Amino acid sequence: MPPGESTSPQYASDLERTYVEEEFLAASGGRFFNASRFPEATAEAVFGDPLTWASIQIEKLHCALVPSGPLGKLYVEIAEDPSINACVVSRPSFSVISFNAGLCVRLRQLFLCVVSDESIFERREFERELDFVAFVPDGAYRDDLVRPADIRVRRGTEGDSDYADWLGPIPPTKERYFLAERLATAAIDFLAMHEFSHVVRNHGVLLGEQCRHCFFEAPRVVQMAASSGLGRDDERTNQLLEVDADQWASHLSMLKFTSGEHSVSYWGKWATTRPDSLKLWLFAVTMMWMLLDGWDENLDRGGTHPHPAPRLLAMLLGLDAQINADHDGVCGMDLYDACVQTARLSRRAWCNLGLSVDRLYSFLDMNQVSAIANRLIDGRDEQFGVALEKQHLWRVRRPG
Ligand SMILES: [Zn+2]
Repeated sequence: MPPGESTSPQYASDLERTYVEEEFLAASGGRFFNASRFPEATAEAVFGDPLTWASIQIEKLHCALVPSGPLGKLYVEIAEDPSINACVVSRPSFSVISFNAGLCVRLRQLFLCVVSDESIFERREFERELDFVAFVPDGAYRDDLVRPADIRVRRGTEGDSDYADWLGPIPPTKERYFLAERLATAAIDFLAMHEFSHVVRNHGVLLGEQCRHCFFEAPRVVQMAASSGLGRDDERTNQLLEVDADQWASHLSMLKFTSGEHSVSYWGKWATTRPDSLKLWLFAVTMMWMLLDGWDENLDRGGTHPHPAPRLLAMLLGLDAQINADHDGVCGMDLYDACVQTARLSRRAWCNLGLSVDRLYSFLDMNQVSAIANRLIDGRDEQFGVALEKQHLWRVRRPG
């Protein structure tokens, strides 16, 4: 694509969509999701809103970029897949960022459950009672939160009540409902930026596959690494590229939710200072990570993705460097405090949900987590530092 040509993530034609969908099917084994089969309110809240948010963010970034090399068009989609995952398929002329339908369902449920817990978010004076009855009894599906979602059309009726568990539990106050939606949006944003980073950092090419790679965010099934065709060295490379995408995602996402006046208004009355917004953003991202799959016992594992515990810590260490460089109303100590408090809060929120505490045990040996996180960061810098600076496609557009 010539430099300067529009890369707006819109479909040029139905024909193109068919082609993109076929390639997506071939690469990921997935199909695009058809939300129109669901009642309007359900489809809008659960799938429409996150998709619109992610599309707008990506479109904005396209405007800020000078495309060069094989960036091509960028599509944002939802995949017909009940598991809690996201992926990006890169091709020389286009890329498809997709969120699994199961991820959209479970993220929403997770945050609605969490904000309903007053031991996690204490009752505040500004809260007003919601004047409608909850669809679902509290806790009716908490055990299901980390499992693939049932995304089948139910009973074939037009009622939102068939999907009450997707919309609930309804928290006791309007402000909590608002907060749940904001937390879910921040989590989706991080994932969108992570997938976007795989594309603009040209990771497919760095893997030596000429943009024919497909990045998933968590192992889909146990056999995935084996069937990916990647050798052990490639897996290690893939792990370092995941760390790179995390660092870029946090760079692109964090400032949006934690900087300037907008960040405080984004969180409503739940944040009055920048460190408040930082804590809420960190909480959203941490809980999203807890939800994704891949929390096995082997902290120092092979496979396409680092274990989530050192991966999360590596991201936080990268943020520290970024915040110290920005000096934008938050200092390193604010970040440290926010991380410690968020770790505590998300641990408690996870336990209160009654979910498996096995995932929390991963953090028991912080020395090991920290050693692996540092090794991943160093590995990324050593192996790709120069290559990424030369190859990646991120060029900020000059004004005028
Ligand atoms: Zn990734």
